[in-house]
Amino acid sequence: MTTQRDYYEILGVSRNASPDELKSAFRTLARKYHPDVNKEPDAEERFKEINEAYAVLSDPTKRQAYDQYGHAGVNNTGGVPDWSNMDFADIFGEFFGFATGASRQRQNAPRRGADLSYTVTLTFEEAIFGVEKEIEITRDEVCSTCKGKGAEPGTSVTRCATCNGRGEVRQVHQTFLGSMVQVVTCPTCNGRGEVISTPCHTCHGRGLERKTSKKTVSIPAGVDNGNQMRLAGEGQPGVNNGPNGNLYVEIRVKEHQFFRRKGNDLLLDLNINVAQATLGAEINVPTIDGSAKLAIPAGTQPGKVFTLRGKGSPSVRSSTRGDELVIINVEVPKNLSADQRKLFEQLAATLGTEVRPQEKSFLDILKEVLGG
Ligand SMILES: [Zn+2]
Ligand SMILES: [Zn+2]
Repeated sequence: MTTQRDYYEILGVSRNASPDELKSAFRTLARKYHPDVNKEPDAEERFKEINEAYAVLSDPTKRQAYDQYGHAGVNNTGGVPDWSNMDFADIFGEFFGFATGASRQRQNAPRRGADLSYTVTLTFEEAIFGVEKEIEITRDEVCSTCKGKGAEPGTSVTRCATCNGRGEVRQVHQTFLGSMVQVVTCPTCNGRGEVISTPCHTCHGRGLERKTSKKTVSIPAGVDNGNQMRLAGEGQPGVNNGPNGNLYVEIRVKEHQFFRRKGNDLLLDLNINVAQATLGAEINVPTIDGSAKLAIPAGTQPGKVFTLRGKGSPSVRSSTRGDELVIINVEVPKNLSADQRKLFEQLAATLGTEVRPQEKSFLDILKEVLGG
C-alpha cells in the first residue's frame, strides 16, 4: 500500500478504542465498502485499507508496535500481510470463510471431452502380423434430431431471463458482516445462458445422444500385451465447442501354444532325443511363419540355444524383425523296447561308471538366455 493513513483514522475510532469497538467499526465499514456491494471506484481500495487497519489493530502485539512506532513499527515486523499483492478473492475468503466467484471456472467455457478406453484381445499371431479389428464404442454424439441444440426442431431457444444469458447469477449470503454477494451458476439454465421451451424428443434437451458405433482399428504388426494405441478425437465430444477426448485402445494378447515373447524375440522350447543330441540331426522346427530346418550338431547339450535370425516379431517402430530362440531340451527315454534296452546296456558298458560334477548347471544357462 502506498497510502499510509492512520489506522485509527481509517476505522474511525479513538486511539484507546476497546477490541469490541474496533470489531464493530470494522464490521460496519467492511459491509459498506465491500466491492460486491459498493460500486464506487475506490471501494476496493478502501476495503483493503480497512482490512489492513483491522489486521494490525486487532492483534495486541502489532497494535502495541503501531502505537509506539507508527507504520514503521508494523511494516518491519513482517506480520502484516501485504494486501496490495493479494487477489481480492483471497482477502474475501480469508475474512468471510468462502471464496468469491473470481476463481471459479465459468460454466459455459469450452471443455475437452472425456477420454474413453477400450480393450481389444488379439491372438498371438494377430499381434505379430497386425490386424484390422472392428470395435464397438458407446459414446455421446451430437444429437441427430436437433443437431446439438437441444430444442425440438422448429421450436425456439430463448435467452435465459434469470441470468440474462450470462449463465451466472449473484446470490446474497448472510454472514456475520451482513449480506454478501456470491456469483454462482444460474439455476434456471444451468449456466447455458439459454432456455429451451420444447426439449428435443430424442435427447431430452441434452443435445447429445448415446450411440454405439462400430469402428475399424488398424493394429500395427508387432504390438505386445499391454501396449496402448491412442485414437485422437475419438473419445467423448467436447463441451461448448471444446475438443473431443481421445480413445485409448489397450492391447491384450492371448498366449501361444508353443511360443513365448521376449520383446521382439520369440522363445521356443524344443525336445530332441538322446540320439539326435549325441549324433546330430537336421530337424524341422516350428516358426511363426511355418516350419524351418535346423541343423543340430553332434554333441548338443541340454539348454543349448539356437537362433533363427529374423523369425521373431516385427518391431512396431522399425522394419526389422526379432529372432526365434530355440532352447534345446534333451529327452531321456522312459519306456524302452527290449531291443532299445539292449543297445543302451551295450552303450553303458563302453561309457564306464565315472561321474563328474558339472561346472555350470542347465538352469544357469537357461537364466542367461531368459535374462534371469
Ligand atoms: Zn436432440
Ligand atoms: Zn440462466
